[in-house]
Amino acid sequence: MPQLGFGVWQVPDDEAEQAVATALEAGYRSIDTAAAYENEAGTGKAIAGSGVAREELFVTTKLWNTEHGRDSALRAFDASLAKLGLDYVDLYLIHWPVPAKDAYIDTYKAFEEILADGRAKAIGVSNFLPEHLERLIDATSVVPAVNQIELHPHLQQHASREFHAQQGITTEAWSPLGQGKGLLEVPAIVAIAQKHGRTPAQIVLRWHIQLGNVVIPKSVTPSRIKENIDVFGFELDPEDMAAISALNEDRRLGPDPAQMA
Ligand code: NAD
Repeated sequence: MPQLGFGVWQVPDDEAEQAVATALEAGYRSIDTAAAYENEAGTGKAIAGSGVAREELFVTTKLWNTEHGRDSALRAFDASLAKLGLDYVDLYLIHWPVPAKDAYIDTYKAFEEILADGRAKAIGVSNFLPEHLERLIDATSVVPAVNQIELHPHLQQHASREFHAQQGITTEAWSPLGQGKGLLEVPAIVAIAQKHGRTPAQIVLRWHIQLGNVVIPKSVTPSRIKENIDVFGFELDPEDMAAISALNEDRRLGPDPAQMA
């Protein structure tokens, strides 16, 4: 799985084709979509038109909360593949655990079937708390390859990252830039950006990369799409890393996974 990919949440379907095409041209090879984003079709069109060989791409999509349960999950997966115009995805994720429904074990067992028949090369979860993962791992046979969680300097998710490391689960950061809301103006980040002659977004993405997180920043602006992948030609020193790690506030931008229905 590439450590840096392109996220398309909140990109309307008719703009997704252009945005994903720009990302593929800029060198991104990993795309993160979801049934709930309603842009799998536009994403698929960009992939088909890109001329990039399928085996060079890493395509992730996700099952929405209304589709939990074995039969619905199998149907939802078929619908996502059809919209994407693909015959397999690289990674299929349960978008949220929705503990109130108590169905994620059955959903995940359907994912194991999809994995076994080769239509997903890997399966995993998103927004699972360690308690959900523990239960899932006990009740099923394939440890999730990935847990995609909200993660940025204001919400550093130490407990989840540690648990994932113990279990061999890759941590993927959603909203890695904190949705661009305020985080990129934090003086410590701006100062580090000036020191390296980089932008605040590049500094935050580089911090994730050096921690080992997978990141999927989103933008529809071509210059930012290019800027966000240009984070492999410099390094943050230990003081920079420590200054950013000191910004943790355990503050979520998104919903609490224990409550999200
Ligand atoms: P993000 O942290 O990637 O921030 C994106 C926003 O930051 C943009 O809309 C723009 O306003 C700003 N931005 C981007 N590049 C910039 C730059 N170079 N300079 C200045 N501002 C910049 O937020 P996100 O879109 O919420 O998260 C990224 C991806 O994560 C999503 O597109 C989606 O694929 C995924 N995601 C998953 C879940 C989940 O529940 N699994 C939830 C939210 C997002």
